[in-house]
Amino acid sequence: MKCEKCRTEMKYYVEGSTQINKCPKCGWSFATTYIDPIHEDNTIYSLIIEQGNDINAKTIMELEKYVNLTNSEIINILKTGNYVIAKQKAIEIKNSMEIFNNLNIKFRIEPHFKWQ
Ligand SMILES: [Zn+2]
Repeated sequence: MKCEKCRTEMKYYVEGSTQINKCPKCGWSFATTYIDPIHEDNTIYSLIIEQGNDINAKTIMELEKYVNLTNSEIINILKTGNYVIAKQKAIEIKNSMEIFNNLNIKFRIEPHFKWQ
């Protein structure tokens, strides 16, 4: 982005949810809303459960809140793995990853997830 006054390439910095664009030469500046680039990633990521998870009541209970599956289906998924439990955009997959990390469930993300 170039400065409207002197056509110098502008610099920017982020303050919370605001992006301040400032010209390093003449000091002209304006603010825009900062959009975290993760919001602009439209890739649909798959969260895939891996095999060999510990199976305990807490994990099953938490997973029941997350997916519409029965107890025995959840147990089976945790044992055998290779199950796509979520297909989501980057920002949502990030939240899901947090849930699964907290539950100590082994999973992988496909394709490669760069927002970690
Ligand atoms: Zn300028």
